[in-house]
Amino acid sequence: MHFAKHVFHNPMYPAVDIEVTRGCTHNKCAFCTMYQEEPFRVTPIEIFQEDLKELALYYPKVTKMQWLGGNPFALSADKLKERAALCYQQFPELQHIGMFSCITDIMTKTDAELRELRALNIELFIGQESGDDWTLNFVNKGFTSADILEQSARLDAAGFTYGATFLGGLAPIEHSEDHAIHTAEVFNKLHPAWVGTGSLALFPGSQMSKWRDEGKFVPLTELELMKELRLFLSILNIPCALTAHHSSALSIMGPFPKNKVQMLAKLDYAIEHYDEYADEMNWHRTHITHM
Ligand code: SF4
Repeated sequence: MHFAKHVFHNPMYPAVDIEVTRGCTHNKCAFCTMYQEEPFRVTPIEIFQEDLKELALYYPKVTKMQWLGGNPFALSADKLKERAALCYQQFPELQHIGMFSCITDIMTKTDAELRELRALNIELFIGQESGDDWTLNFVNKGFTSADILEQSARLDAAGFTYGATFLGGLAPIEHSEDHAIHTAEVFNKLHPAWVGTGSLALFPGSQMSKWRDEGKFVPLTELELMKELRLFLSILNIPCALTAHHSSALSIMGPFPKNKVQMLAKLDYAIEHYDEYADEMNWHRTHITHM
């Protein structure tokens, strides 16, 4: 198998991995260091076929695959269809193919292409991170809340299964409430199967860690992060599977909004008893080594 030095697998999507791209076409988010050393490139089709054959030796009955890379959905619809066809030929029991996508990768596909890709059971993990325009611009996500709404509506019309992500702590305290409220309001207009939540961890080399070192950005405390998450969840009202990234010091996950009351109660308890948890949470935050 051929893999880049650093491999990022979505742990919420249990599946067999194969590399389709390396790096990220955007690679400019102020908090992200994932692909700083890895320029975007597409795995040559011959290598991809070689890996498929090798994978079939060990996992001939694969039902779910995860295509690796920062955003394999950046590939043209034709390239995606070609690779998906090879996967379905090699694995007769394959049912789903999941991959990361930027909002901007959806823009490059026509509605007809989206329907064709949906018919191949391609599922998308999308890092919106925020629905607040100030925050999106601050961290240089490369799209706006209007883009999220427009492109997600196109995914919904094509019948896609996709996930949405809220990254707590992206905005400084004076914009924290807007980040939570506007993201929940935008997500309430989408139809994601999963909503992932995580909290900002500042890794060496990221733009935001430089801002922190220069005194230009003050990260939220764990208490502020929990209050922000609580505000986000209190407004979120769509049916989804709520998942928590390992960057969350307090793991809140489960069916939503079925478990919403219990989730808010868990956050309220942790907020009220913050002093008992503070050391543990700070330890957790400072020991996250990578995304
Ligand atoms: S957060 Fe996602 S889109 Fe932004 S640079 Fe990192 S991998 Fe690319």
